[in-house]
Amino acid sequence: MKEGQPQAIELKNYQVPPYLIDSTELHVEINEDVTRVTTTLQVRKNPDSTAMVTDLVLNGAVELVNKSITINDRELLSNEFGRDQDLLTLYAVPESFTLRTQVDIKPQDNTALEGLYKSGDMFCTQCEAEGFRNITWFLDRPDVMSKYRTTINADKRRYPILLSNGNDIARGEEGERHWVTWEDPFMKPAYLFALVAGDLQHVDDTFVTMSGRAVKLQIFTEAHNIDKVDYAMLALKNAMRWDEQAYGREYDLDIFMIVAVESFNMGAMENKGLNIFNTSCVLARPDTTTDQGYQRVESVVGHEYFHNWSGNRVTCRDWFQLSLKEGFTVLRDQQFSATMGSPTVCRINDVATLRGAQFPEDAGPMAHPIRPDTYIEINNFYTATVYEKGAEVVGMIQTLLGPDQFRRGTDLYFDRHDGQAVTTEEFVKAMEDATQVDLTQFRRWYSQAGTPVLKIQSHFDSAEQTYTLSVTQSCPPTPGQTQKLPFHLPLAIGLLDQAGADMPLTLMDNEAVQTPQVANVQDEAGSHTVVLNLTEARQHFVFTNISEKPVPSLLRGFSAPVKLNYDYSRDELMFLMSHDSNGFNRWDAAQRLAVDVIQEVVEQIQQGRTPQVDPRLIKACESNLDQAVARHTDLTLDKAMIAEMLVLPAETYLAELFTVADVDAIHAAREAVRLAIATQLAGVLLAVYKLNQDDRPFDVSASEVARRSLKNVALAYLMVPENTEMVPLCVAQFESANCMTDTSAAIRALVNSASPLALQAKEKALTTFYGRWQDEALVIDQWFSLQASCPLPGALDRVKALMQHSAFTMLNPNRLRSVIVAFAFQNNVNFHAKNGEGYGFLADTVIALNSINPLVAARILSPLTRWRKYDEQRQTLMRQHLQRILDTENLSKDVFEVVSKSL
Ligand SMILES: [Zn+2]
Repeated sequence: MKEGQPQAIELKNYQVPPYLIDSTELHVEINEDVTRVTTTLQVRKNPDSTAMVTDLVLNGAVELVNKSITINDRELLSNEFGRDQDLLTLYAVPESFTLRTQVDIKPQDNTALEGLYKSGDMFCTQCEAEGFRNITWFLDRPDVMSKYRTTINADKRRYPILLSNGNDIARGEEGERHWVTWEDPFMKPAYLFALVAGDLQHVDDTFVTMSGRAVKLQIFTEAHNIDKVDYAMLALKNAMRWDEQAYGREYDLDIFMIVAVESFNMGAMENKGLNIFNTSCVLARPDTTTDQGYQRVESVVGHEYFHNWSGNRVTCRDWFQLSLKEGFTVLRDQQFSATMGSPTVCRINDVATLRGAQFPEDAGPMAHPIRPDTYIEINNFYTATVYEKGAEVVGMIQTLLGPDQFRRGTDLYFDRHDGQAVTTEEFVKAMEDATQVDLTQFRRWYSQAGTPVLKIQSHFDSAEQTYTLSVTQSCPPTPGQTQKLPFHLPLAIGLLDQAGADMPLTLMDNEAVQTPQVANVQDEAGSHTVVLNLTEARQHFVFTNISEKPVPSLLRGFSAPVKLNYDYSRDELMFLMSHDSNGFNRWDAAQRLAVDVIQEVVEQIQQGRTPQVDPRLIKACESNLDQAVARHTDLTLDKAMIAEMLVLPAETYLAELFTVADVDAIHAAREAVRLAIATQLAGVLLAVYKLNQDDRPFDVSASEVARRSLKNVALAYLMVPENTEMVPLCVAQFESANCMTDTSAAIRALVNSASPLALQAKEKALTTFYGRWQDEALVIDQWFSLQASCPLPGALDRVKALMQHSAFTMLNPNRLRSVIVAFAFQNNVNFHAKNGEGYGFLADTVIALNSINPLVAARILSPLTRWRKYDEQRQTLMRQHLQRILDTENLSKDVFEVVSKSL
């Protein structure tokens, strides 16, 4: 944008809408060339608004072609309204009136996939955050809530299924065409509007709610995918039941529909009564979907369903409040998944996501609080901060209040604000009012960005029999916020005696202690956890009657989204790995030990020394594997834990821990550690592999998922050495696998192998895989992704070749991400090649995508924005390419905001 740079919108300038729209009647006539949208709005002045205005300003899009505008059935003259690009101003309107507009749009040309667009042969919508304005003139803001009645009119043969929100109240036919009218009895903001027209099949089911009402459930897909929705249906019914039990929330309409769409920017969308899903978040079949894919379906189906209360019944006042619905709903879907599977493994994965995606965001140029106070393009704030950190913040409220009190708080929140558009402040207030707990200081989590750092020191006094923890907290500066005030946070801890048992804990000052045992801290039997209230920059906690020097287990269950610094010795970490009563902290001790050892190897490599891997790390892995052999038959879920503990921290996470990330040394060090484990433990790895390799029929139960994950972690290690003899074993798994988890683990191990023996096998496997799955889009996405993320040399050439493949397209976000995100986000060593060719490639892709799909273009460029993390040469190259993007003609608001803030 050369002239008139995009303007920032600020929270402090919020004003209530000057007008309200009580009802919205849409008539959408779908044709192959243009779609005509006729909108009838009942508009009135907002009695709560003090703005002295008589003009009504409506949001739209430059693509809207005006056909007619009437007020109270009178066509407006050209001097009674003005249009400036995407705004329509109606001059001197009455206090209350009927507005009717008619526009033509071309959904088939809409490659940005916001508003009404075409995905394959079907029409569908995505209106959050501001897509509705691409369909018709409207007051497109979440605090304008309206009752919708929608009639869709389309060709009967091409689009036999016509869907919108609410209940289907009338239908009819006219020659080749037909129409259906839907009415949604609930008031809703425009972002929850949805419409679908297509030749779709559906699977039906019924759910009986806790008050005994029967709700019809329908999942719609194109014909070739209809055999992959059973798991989503099961997940939906489980989610509906869980929300009744855990939060007392019952579904409200008589019908709930999900539609699977191939081209979709996000994961899924919670439109009232008509959820629209990316196929990747709803389809699952054993031979096409990995266990991770199954878990994703369960969690996303739950997430979107839970929005019916946390998002739809109670919605956001403005987009700064996005975390009101997203943070809370992510917490709810995490709790749901934890109930369905292994709570500890779920927590490990949630924290790994937070550390891998959110911590870097907090440390980067786009850092923002979970309630941002300014934005240029709201699409850029659908972030790990708003979602995942937002969930941690609500989770901390639950930890501080305890589960019962928290439930009283959510009951009051839903009850008090049902049907309203509210703020995060009103959420916190409801929590306070229901429980009388003061959250004044806690509110800083909503306004301060950055990841707090806790430094903890301990002192054991054997004479006094006391143990003191001294805790300091600080938070690094973030853009626009140099000084931070101390946060209020729950620090869950335990102390282990020399036998590894939890000590009973008594604090000298009882006021700082909260009740232990809280839902978000995964506690096992025999544990004594206390939750300390941190509120000051520096605090001391003195435990009495401590007869021997304990090993502290700190931040149990990751009770707050912070970085923890405590000077653990490697022996202490090994002790915690085998004895901590908190499963999450056993895993975290393993991670800390691996990080410590890898950091040491990085230094050795930087000094030109031969890597020496601390034998204690190998020993720790060995004892885990020995346990997996010795207790093979009675371990079930623990297999997933052992698998998690054997996986080394990702290179992206390791890079975050260095001030200047030496990409090549980090990669080499991590590989050296992997090789040491693989060679020294080859025997027991093979034993574990064989014990867990069997061909019983596929089952997605948690214990089977655990078995497969342990087996495939072992396989990946077995394939690490260049002289591995395991290639035939890997090929055999590839050829005989009865599920995609095993197929994809085998082909990934082959593709990533540097063994000369694997060369031929990998080409053959890739050809076989493609040939077998070429009609399954989601499987082909995996085929692209596993090649683009392969860390072996020559990745960029492979990526460029993949983009020339006939199955590649920039128009489908899943396909685009399967190559670009796999390369730029997951293939650190190749993306950051010293000559900068990876950077140039990403910049070229962003520039090409800017005019096609700005939302996705802005997202994929984020690895470039982290230039401060790298050496001078890389910094210069990354900035040059960012500048090149900034200099592009017609840069979208989305891309402009991210690039300009990062430079
Ligand atoms: Zn959501």
